[in-house]
Parts: sequence; C-alpha cells; structure tokens
Amino acid sequence: STPLGELDPAVAAAVEAELVRQQSTLEMIASENFAPVAVLEAQGSVLTNKYAEGYPGRRYYGGCEHVDAVERIAIDRVKELFGAEAANVQPHSGASANAAAMFALLKPGDTVLGLDLAHGGHLTHGMKINFSGRLYTVLPYHVRGTDMRIDMDEVEQLALAHRPRMIVAGWSAYPQRLDFAAFRRIADQVGAYLMVDMAHFAGLVAAGLHPSPVPYADVVTTTTHKTLGGPRGGVILSRKEYAKKINSAVFPGQQGGPLEHVIAAKAVAFKIAASEGFKELQQRTLDGARALAGRLLADDVAESGATVLTGGTHVHLVLVDLRESELDGRQAEDRLHRIGITVNRNAVPNDPRPPMVSSGLRIGTPALATRGFGVEQFREVADIIARTLLAERLDDAEAGLLRDRAGKLAADFPLYPELSKPGK
Ligand code: PLP
Repeated sequence: STPLGELDPAVAAAVEAELVRQQSTLEMIASENFAPVAVLEAQGSVLTNKYAEGYPGRRYYGGCEHVDAVERIAIDRVKELFGAEAANVQPHSGASANAAAMFALLKPGDTVLGLDLAHGGHLTHGMKINFSGRLYTVLPYHVRGTDMRIDMDEVEQLALAHRPRMIVAGWSAYPQRLDFAAFRRIADQVGAYLMVDMAHFAGLVAAGLHPSPVPYADVVTTTTHKTLGGPRGGVILSRKEYAKKINSAVFPGQQGGPLEHVIAAKAVAFKIAASEGFKELQQRTLDGARALAGRLLADDVAESGATVLTGGTHVHLVLVDLRESELDGRQAEDRLHRIGITVNRNAVPNDPRPPMVSSGLRIGTPALATRGFGVEQFREVADIIARTLLAERLDDAEAGLLRDRAGKLAADFPLYPELSKPGK
C-alpha cells in the first residue's frame, strides 16, 4: 500500500476509482485532457510546501531560490512558445486569469463586449452573476441565427454605439476560428483593449495549427489544462507595456501565494508543447474532430433531426444540435454515459429547451488524441456515438454491444499504465 492508502483509505480509494474510470471509459469532454506523468510528478512535488508571494527575484519570503528558477523557466518557455512579450504564470485557473487581466485594465463600471454565454461564451466573459457581469457593464454579442457564426457586424455596431473599454474574444463552445484581425480593427476604431481568451484552443495555437491571437491582442489569457494538456491552471500573456499592471493585478491584487508546484508542472507542459510530438498530437486532435463531424453529418443522423452546428469544425470539438431531434441534450449525454463515453450536454443558441435539459452536446477529441487515437479510432468512436444517438430505444442488448466496442478502444490504448497497481 502507498502512504496515502495507509493513512487515508477513503481518499485513496476514490483516487484509485477515478484512475480506473479514466482508463476504462472514453473521455470526450472538450475541456479535458490527460496530463503526462511528468506533469503529475511536478505537481505532486515538495514545491507545494513553499510560500513565494511576489515574483522571481522579488519575493516576500526567504528560501525562494529554487522556486524562482522554476517560475523563470515557466515564464521563458511560455513566452517563447507563443511569441509573447510578457507572461504571468501565477493565475490559479482560467477564471482567475480573466479576473486579473480585467482588474488590471478596467475600472468597475467600464463597458465590455463579450460573447453571450448561451452562444458559446464563458462565464467570465460577462455572465450576470459572475464577477465579470457584476463589476462591469457587459454587452453580449452573438452568433447569427443563419450560419451560427459570430456576427462581426453586431460586434462592430455594439462597439460604435457603446464605445467599450475592452472587447473580449474567446469561447467555451464554438467550433470555428475567430477573426482576430477583425476584432482588432473594431477595437482600434473605438480605442478599446482587445483581450483574447484562448483557453480552449491554446494547444492548437502552440502547434501552429490555429492562427495565433498574440500579434493582435493586448492581452491573451489561457488555461493550461485543456488542449494544452498541462496541469489545471491559468496564464496571462501580454504586451510589455501592460506587464507591470497585470503582475500587480495577480499579486497582490487577486491572489496571495502562487502555487509553485503547479507552476513547475506548467513549465513541464510548455516544454512538451514545444516538441514535434505535440504538433502531431494536435493534428490528430483536429483530424479526429473532423472525422466526428463528418459522421454526424451523414444522412442517417440527419434523418433523426440531429445535426452539427456551423456544418463542421475547425477546432478540437463538435457541437451537436438536437433542437429538431426527439432526443434532448440530457438524454443524449445519459445514453453516451451508459456506453462508456463521457461528454457534456450544452445549450445551443436559441435553445428551446431549459438549460438543465438543453438541445446540444459538446464533444471534444483532445483527451483521446493524447491517449493515442488516430483517424481510424476516431471514425470508430464517431460511429459508436452516431449509433447510440440513433437507436430507437437503447435496449440492454444494443447498449451492451456499443459498450463493448467503446471498451475495446479503451483497452487498445492503455492510459497511465505506470500508475496502475500491479495485478490490475
Ligand atoms: N475561459 C474559457 C474560454 C473557458 O472555457 C474556461 C473553462 O472552461 C475558463 C476560461 C475557465 O477556466 P477555469 O475552469 O480554469 O477557471
């Protein structure tokens, strides 16, 4: 038994059960990934013991020489990875990164434009009861009802009419690329800051498979645990002129001691993200999403009333539109859960069903690509998903067959074999 198993069998059992769940099911939540073991090792290290308020070379505590080294490595690597002038690697999460970036550049009451939550935006882009919606005057922009793509004419009209201090571009559920140059042009017309939240697609940007927002934006925020594949955390990249304001907004503005063990894990993830292998991984992620969209656009699925929002994908996820389907988002999520595929239901723009039920599914490929899936395996997953959604009533026999197909893929691509206890 391990020290944890000896001391606290209840927590150890839950951790072990979660490992087995991750190993034996197919993880397709678009915001999730599997951190490499080296990242887990850094995150589980003695750096968790260290207080290091301040920044490398300017700390409020003694004994920071080694965490200084780690934090400098993380900063240098992420600047290099994205070609950014300045970086702050201390935000505890994506939400804290956004809070600090806004805190640095805005005053309470300032006007901000952000993508509506119900149209694919994130809570921190101005949802009413989030800090962003309470502190700032947020005007949401939307996707068009026709092609479900972001309405840049609306962004421009809102900007000209309300002269915001900041425009936020970025999304949690949107399957297409953003036009950063168009956002920049609009921001310049009204003297607004442009902040891009690339949390979802940062891994694709790092691999050069998605346009980079860095040349266009004043500030770029991201999480490190989605396509980027690192530990759970946040980062703020910026132009040099904003670095001082941003650093002081993170600490002492928003946070106390940084999580140096997580910063060490971020540094490891940035090293991995600069590798050739990472490019190949992100390419499989994209190819997988395309294969999934292709299967879900086939005639048999279309006849059931289900379709793919925007008619495809240019990123790591597919949004399934169930507005015309008898199956609602919750039923679809439950069906897939039953056969061992984890996804999340998601409201689609102009969703007729209540948010707890919803009419959409968000399905992502990063975690399975990390597991080693290529196009062939993604085609098989896509077919399993299509058949699960199409089944008239998913009876036990049919569910069992689909579950076996999903289970075979999981068995063929073992996850974290080095973490499994011998004999398991
Ligand atoms: N920004 C975007 C676009 C996101 O999708 C998310 C999380 O889903 C976040 C920020 C927040 O990240 P975290 O959950 O680490 O606070």
